Amino acid sequence: MSAQHKFLLDESKLPKAWYNINADLPVPPQPVLHPQTLQPVTPDFLSVLFPMPLIMQEISPERWIEIPEPVREVYKLWRPTPLFRALRLEQALDTPAHIYYKYEGASPVGSHKPNTAVAQAFFNKEAGTKALTTETGAGQWGSALAMACNMFGISLEIFMVKVSYHQKPYRRIIMQNFGAEVHASPTELTHYGRSLLEQDPDNPGSLGIAISEAVEAAATSGGAKKYSLGSVLNHVLLHQTVIGLETLEQMAMAGEYPDIVIGCAGGGSNFAGFAFPFVHQNLTNGTKTRIIAAEPASCPSLTKGKYTFDYGDTAQMAPVVKMHTLGHTFMPPGIHAGGLRYHGMSPQVSALVDHGDVEARAVHQLATFEAGVQFARAEGIIPAPESNHAVRVAIDEALACKRDGTKKVIAFNLSGHGHFDMTSYDAYHQGRLEDYEYPAAMVEEAMTHLPQVPA
Ligand SMILES: *Cc1c(COP(=O)(O)O)cnc(C)c1O
Repeated sequence: MSAQHKFLLDESKLPKAWYNINADLPVPPQPVLHPQTLQPVTPDFLSVLFPMPLIMQEISPERWIEIPEPVREVYKLWRPTPLFRALRLEQALDTPAHIYYKYEGASPVGSHKPNTAVAQAFFNKEAGTKALTTETGAGQWGSALAMACNMFGISLEIFMVKVSYHQKPYRRIIMQNFGAEVHASPTELTHYGRSLLEQDPDNPGSLGIAISEAVEAAATSGGAKKYSLGSVLNHVLLHQTVIGLETLEQMAMAGEYPDIVIGCAGGGSNFAGFAFPFVHQNLTNGTKTRIIAAEPASCPSLTKGKYTFDYGDTAQMAPVVKMHTLGHTFMPPGIHAGGLRYHGMSPQVSALVDHGDVEARAVHQLATFEAGVQFARAEGIIPAPESNHAVRVAIDEALACKRDGTKKVIAFNLSGHGHFDMTSYDAYHQGRLEDYEYPAAMVEEAMTHLPQVPA
């Protein structure tokens, strides 16, 4: 009998609750600090930006948090997503390992991001929010939130990093199709944006700057607008756990359990969403799955950053949290995996790496594209440049199995497809893609600007 390729869950098996790792974290959670006073924030401060249900999820100690029925109804448009066994990749690598991948590119906008966008739009709607602001880099997050806001009747204002706005118009058009208003950041619409444009009218923008503008637009709206973030925060990671919860069931259908679980990590949300249900099994059920977060060697917050308190954004308006950081003023090199260019990391993922429950591995850009092309030629799906980091580590682990003659079960999250990233693949094929050395001097400089948090 030939082996099965796909493991599909019926809609009725869509999870009914998200998994909250706060309940099982082996270390106490660290306080979230106010950016000006550096004292623990009050719910008042957070409620300027977020609706109360999401603030409660951020700090909840409950292990399971019910997924509201209207959110499950929208999830059903594409969930449960398929789990594939990468049989043809296994053959191409000639490895005794079994390789599985969960395909989040099956969502309407092509990534895992709608899993939290839909939930955030729903809870904002419930709380009476009429309008949201957010930032987006290349547009993955913006298009997910635009779709979700449209479904729940909330208007959306998106600050899109200016270089991407001009160089990558397709996702901007997707956002506009869903009715969102998209600005090239820095803009003239915020105090911070105006101050940057005064110094340099050609400022190309950055994710940190766009976050600052979106936060300012919400914070100064007199309560009319709230702000939404697509990664890093606990409630975002929580919503993403549908990925791993489905995968647990699908691995059971396949009659196997992973020895190694892999995801790429920018702010940590798809990694956590896929991996935390397996971390849960490790922490409470005695399993010994290796859990690996894959990050870019040029923006290596987990492998080279410091585990300390830092601002979430460039302009020091977002809360200060304890995380692995390269410094909030650090400007990462222009790698094509734009979704992984963030100076910090989710506090929950950071705590687990610091405590030794999660491993981190940095990979170079060229090697990630090489892996992505090899994967596409075997399996037919072209991964997003971000996802290629997970593909690289999965292939490396499968090759290690071949070398050692061990038959491990490897599972990774394919966080999105790369259909809007053909310019990057083109650069790779033309030999124009380069590896960036770890920018040690820039990181060292950025580290001098960390907030001085009283012990
Ligand atoms: C945004 C994005 C990422 C990185 O974000 P995380 O919060 O770390 O998951 C990874 N893959 C894809 C396809 C993305 O769109």
